[in-house]
Amino acid sequence: MSTTESRRLSDDYEVADVLGRGGFSIVRRGVSKSDEGKTQVAIKTLRRLGPAMTGMGMQQGSKDAPSSGGLPLWKQVSISDALLTNEILVMRRIVENVAPHPNVISLHDVYEDAHGVHLVLELCSGGELFDRIIGRERYSEFDAAAVVRQIAGGLKALHKANIIHRDLKPENCLFSDRKEDSTLKIMDFGLSSVEDFSDPVVALFGSVDYVSPEALSRQEVSTASDMWSVGVILYILLSGCPPFHAATNQEKQQRILQGEFSFQEHTWKTITSSAKDLISSLLSVEPYKRPTASDLLMHPWVIGDCAKQDRIDAEVVSKLQRFNARRKLRAAAIASVLSSKVALRTKRLRSLLGTHDLSSEELDNLRQHFARICADGENATLTEFEQ
Ligand code: ATP
Repeated sequence: MSTTESRRLSDDYEVADVLGRGGFSIVRRGVSKSDEGKTQVAIKTLRRLGPAMTGMGMQQGSKDAPSSGGLPLWKQVSISDALLTNEILVMRRIVENVAPHPNVISLHDVYEDAHGVHLVLELCSGGELFDRIIGRERYSEFDAAAVVRQIAGGLKALHKANIIHRDLKPENCLFSDRKEDSTLKIMDFGLSSVEDFSDPVVALFGSVDYVSPEALSRQEVSTASDMWSVGVILYILLSGCPPFHAATNQEKQQRILQGEFSFQEHTWKTITSSAKDLISSLLSVEPYKRPTASDLLMHPWVIGDCAKQDRIDAEVVSKLQRFNARRKLRAAAIASVLSSKVALRTKRLRSLLGTHDLSSEELDNLRQHFARICADGENATLTEFEQ
């Protein structure tokens, strides 16, 4: 993999349809020009919002990093460039230290031009985790266990290379293709960290639903923090709603900090105790009590021995459908805010994170941007989002 400015993306790829948009990025399909279009990729373009600085060859925090005014240069860049640099650093680390793993997205190449940085990624055309579950005709604990197995497989490889994902959530788990036995890929390393590097600016953008108590209270984040997120994902997979919910964002955060969740909802009655025990251990407030990714891969429920094959209550799937629709709208709102004027961005983003309370101005903004940003949100309505 090389990154020279003289290499142009357009020389090597035909850039086609938009696959998705993120806070700082647009992802489009790319068709290789060298093999008559046989190879398709996803091109994630990280927009340059601040002053030009990609930090391509720079190690975060390294003594060699250029500095001025006493601060290393990477610490002086705008939020957007800090994130941009981080994603590339982590992707490089993956290329260099993680043997290609089926459950971790592959980076094929990187290009840079005046528009920003283009990451050429493995194409995942199988959709996001929850979309996929909702679309299934039959869904059981056994299927949920297969999902956890794949997430744990990818995390084991990342954690071995000291990479903490820090933003593990269902929308960052994409399937490779539409086939029944398609592979789940962990992606989006924009907020990830290598070893113990931790930037509070980066932490600001994490989705609160999946954030561990230690990350919320700004204590040391470790590989165990990703395991907490796995616990949240598993809870949602088996109940259709997040474990920590409350009327206000502040209350929700309080519950997360205290690890206050329950299995009282009637749909939990039919779920095996093995699954519930596993969730309880993943959602331990003390990080050291959580199983590691390797532990998960040996857990009797995760390997499928104790996971029930019976169909999960239909109510769980419809709750998951509603949760997913609201989640997509929130993501669209955040993307909309991030694409608005820089001065307003952080303030509005803060107000949006983890809460559904939107000002009338934000709602107007949302309405205007909604169709454009949330092209696949046909199931999601603004009313649902406002609930
Ligand atoms: P966020 O603001 O949520 O962190 P982001 O800017 O990091 O987003 P991604 O989440 O990486 O961007 O990508 C945005 C969307 O683009 C994804 O939700 C997904 O729909 C699509 N996408 C990203 N990578 C791929 C890929 N490799 N193959 C197919 N689609 C992809």
